[in-house]
Amino acid sequence: MDTIANFINGQYQAPQSQQYIDNIEPATGEIYGQIPDSTGEDVELAVTAAKKALPAWQAMPLEQRADFLNAIAQEIENRIEELALAESIDNGKPISLARIVDIPRAASNFKFFAHACSQFASESHAMAGVAINYTLRQPIGIVGCISPWNLPLYLFTWKIAPALAAGNCVIAKPSEVTPKTATLLGEICQKVGLPAGVLNILHGSGAKVGQAICQHQAIKAISFTGGTTTGAAIAKLLAPSFKKLSLELGGKNPALIFADCDFNNTVDEVFRASFANQGQICLCASRLYIERPIYEKFKQALIDKANALQPSDPLLAESKMGALVSKSHLDKVISYIELAKNEGGNVLAGGQRVTLSGRCQQGYFLQPTIIDNLPNSASCNQEEIFGPVITLQPFDTDEQALALANDSNYGLATTIWTKNLSRAHQIAEQINTGIVWVNSWLLRDLRTPFGGMNQSGLGREGGLEAMRFFTESKNVCIKY
Ligand code: NAP
Repeated sequence: MDTIANFINGQYQAPQSQQYIDNIEPATGEIYGQIPDSTGEDVELAVTAAKKALPAWQAMPLEQRADFLNAIAQEIENRIEELALAESIDNGKPISLARIVDIPRAASNFKFFAHACSQFASESHAMAGVAINYTLRQPIGIVGCISPWNLPLYLFTWKIAPALAAGNCVIAKPSEVTPKTATLLGEICQKVGLPAGVLNILHGSGAKVGQAICQHQAIKAISFTGGTTTGAAIAKLLAPSFKKLSLELGGKNPALIFADCDFNNTVDEVFRASFANQGQICLCASRLYIERPIYEKFKQALIDKANALQPSDPLLAESKMGALVSKSHLDKVISYIELAKNEGGNVLAGGQRVTLSGRCQQGYFLQPTIIDNLPNSASCNQEEIFGPVITLQPFDTDEQALALANDSNYGLATTIWTKNLSRAHQIAEQINTGIVWVNSWLLRDLRTPFGGMNQSGLGREGGLEAMRFFTESKNVCIKY
């Protein structure tokens, strides 16, 4: 049994409660570890450590701080196999995906912000003949970072790296469902000699330790990624304290597929956008709008690919589709498929739980599922399912495609598939999502603003946006 510990003040330690939560391997359905069921008492210890570490960390020359981040990145790269294996066991994702996407990106996050902090400049505004203003951008102090289970180390470090780069001390909580790589990050911090208390990692449930992090008075900002309902609860909780809050929330992302698209490439990429990581990426396409002249052909091509993609043991090198993250999540996704049938939907491919033989017999596997014949108002077209389930609808005009895509409370990401660039520009301008990809998906430049509109969140991550979030600006006006 793998029992993990909190990482506080540079040391691993058991939770004050001495209570633990089971950690289940999604591919087998078996308990394989225990994680601390931390409480406010552990947050208190972490805050004490962070307070002690803060003055030296803030005063450290930028280059030295950047050196620590680069060293962490290097150590993540050195341990890529171990981390990829841990991520695959913990999350159920194919090990190849963890090796190619999740872990390299975690290293890139640290490398990127090691550079970004040295390029982060503040503004000066001259009032001709009267005065000069300059803006100081100072670290906030102690900040909280709370992340979800779908891209565990990738998203955990996407918050931690800029927070540290900006000169803050961090108290971070990964999802209780996927704690393992976050634990290993503590070892990496020890190895590179990151000063004790600069990064503290607490495990446990959102309701206990997550909320305690959010509510602690010494923690001045919260960067949260997770579901919209949780984000709303945190926003409500924090409103009276006026803490800085960044919310990266759910999505219901449209893909607009036009008849003039590069057909074969679009089928491949849209399929990947729909089912990568078992459809459990906030950016995955889940509502596919297909121009009528190619609707039947495109639909058939997707069905053929879905039928050919069989879930398998994620630890196999050749696995392209692993397990869903938990039994409760699997049940939720299946309940949406049943709901779709009740609402008149036509299940064109998949729709069933898969039972594998051998060690994965009890795993949480689901066929890639394609549904059509649902109106845009149907639950499966309006609510986030966050699994390997997509819906298809035909459209006839650009205006209709845009109206269907914008008919949503969410606003995270859109993909547009067309050779007509003028159309792509016009739709990109009018679509209500924070991210638009044209003829691509998940092509990421870490300098760009990342985040959603409406129910998909508040604020932006990435590049200088993240550096701005993790600093407080102060204007100084000097009269001549
Ligand atoms: P979640 O249930 O909202 O949980 C996210 C994190 O918040 C977890 O660490 C969770 O702890 C913690 N938490 C729960 N309740 C809390 C509370 N009251 N106070 C403080 N922390 C609390 O989301 P999830 O199921 O892990 O992740 C899936 C969701 O994340 C999807 O909606 C997906 O779209 C979204 N997501 C968004 C983005 C983006 O960039 N926009 C990226 C990835 C995922 P527990 O472990 O106990 O639940």
